[in-house]
Amino acid sequence: MIPVTKPFLPGIQEFESYMSSIWERQWLTNNGPLVNELELKLKNYLNIKHLLYVSNGTMALQIAIKALDLKGEIITTPFSFVATTNSIVWEGCTPVFVDIDGETFNIDPAKIEAAITPKTSAILATHVYGNPCDIDAIQKIADQHSLKVIFDAAHCFGTKYKNKSVFEYGDISTTSFHATKLFHTIEGGAVFTKCPDLLKKMALMRNFGHNGPDEFAELGINGKNCEFHAAMGLCNLKQVDDILDKRRLLSFYYWKALAPLKAKYPKLNENLDYNYAYFPVLFENEEFMLNCLKALENEKIYCRRYFYPPLSSLPFLAPSYMPVCESVSSRIMCLPLYHTLTSSDLDLITRIILRVQNYGQPESSEKVNVPIEALHPALTIAQNGAAH
Ligand SMILES: *Cc1c(COP(=O)(O)O)cnc(C)c1O
Repeated sequence: MIPVTKPFLPGIQEFESYMSSIWERQWLTNNGPLVNELELKLKNYLNIKHLLYVSNGTMALQIAIKALDLKGEIITTPFSFVATTNSIVWEGCTPVFVDIDGETFNIDPAKIEAAITPKTSAILATHVYGNPCDIDAIQKIADQHSLKVIFDAAHCFGTKYKNKSVFEYGDISTTSFHATKLFHTIEGGAVFTKCPDLLKKMALMRNFGHNGPDEFAELGINGKNCEFHAAMGLCNLKQVDDILDKRRLLSFYYWKALAPLKAKYPKLNENLDYNYAYFPVLFENEEFMLNCLKALENEKIYCRRYFYPPLSSLPFLAPSYMPVCESVSSRIMCLPLYHTLTSSDLDLITRIILRVQNYGQPESSEKVNVPIEALHPALTIAQNGAAH
C-alpha cells in the first residue's frame, strides 16, 4: 500500500530518551523545557527572531485573526485546506473568496481589489503546496487599503522567499506541524510576526490570557502545546534537511518520469527556495484524472484530491463562482511523496499514470505489465538515478 503521505518517525530510542527526561522532570505541559528548546531550535533553523509554538495550525490561524482584532470580511482563497476558511468563520468573520491564478494556484492579486468593500479588514492567503503567493503584490494592495495580511504557510516549512524564511512575511504568518506535514510534532503549529506588540498579545492569548498566576491581560484560549509533541519536534528537526533533500530528489524523479504526460505543474515563484512539500499534477480534464486515481487505487496506491472541492462551495457558506479554482480543483491530484518512497514505487506510480494516458482505463491487470521503456525511454535512465 502506498498512501499519499507517511509521517516521518525518528528512531524510537531517541524519542525514548526524551520521554525519560520528561518522566524525571514530571513537567508535561505549560511552557516546559522541551517546548522552549524546540522554539529556540526552530528559530535557529529558520533564522528568524520570533515564533510561538501552538497546539495546531488551525489554532494558529484563529489566534492570528483574534490578535489582529479582525472584523467583517476577510478576503481569502477558495483553494486551500478547509481550516483556512473555517478559522475565518469560527472567528465570526465572513470569508470573501477571490479566485486563484491558473498558473500558481495561489490567490490572484489582480482580482483582490474588486473584492474590497468598506467591511474588508484583511487578506488571508495560503501559500499553496509551499509555493509562495505573490507576496509583494498582496502586501501592496493591503497597504493601499489599510488591510491586515495573514499568510497561511502551513505547507511552507523550509520554504524561503527572497532568501528569508517565508514565515517572515505578512502581519502574521501561521504554520502547521501536523503529522502529515513535512516537519511535524504529531500535532502542532506556530505563529510568526515581527511586531513585538502582536507577539506579546499572541503569547498571552495562547495561555488563557494569563499575565501572572492571578492576573489576566487578554481574552485568551488554550493554544499551548506540550512536552511530548515538542520531543517529537526535537527529534524530527535533526532529520529535516534529509527529509527536504529526499523530497527534492523524488520530485525531480517524478517530473522526469512524467515528461510524456499531458499535465501541468504549479508555476513556482521566482524568488524561491522550494521545500517540495507536495507533488501536485494538474491533468487535462477531470475524467483523465479520475481514471488515474482509480487505476492507482486498483494497485493500492492512494493519491488525494488536494484541494477538492473549492472552499467557496462549503455547505455553510453562500456559494460564489470561482471559475479558475473550480477548473483546477476538479482536475488536480497530489501523488504520493514521503521520505521512504523508493524509485521502484515511483516507477510503478508513473507507469500506471502513463498507461492510462496511452491506453485508457485498464480492464485487466495485463496492461500493468507494459514495459516502462515502451512508455518512456527516460525511465530506464531514471531508474538508476539518485532517488532510492
Ligand atoms: C494542515 C493545514 C492547516 C491546519 O493545520 P492543523 O495543524 O491540522 O490544524 C491549515 N491550513 C492549511 C493550508 C493546511 O494544509
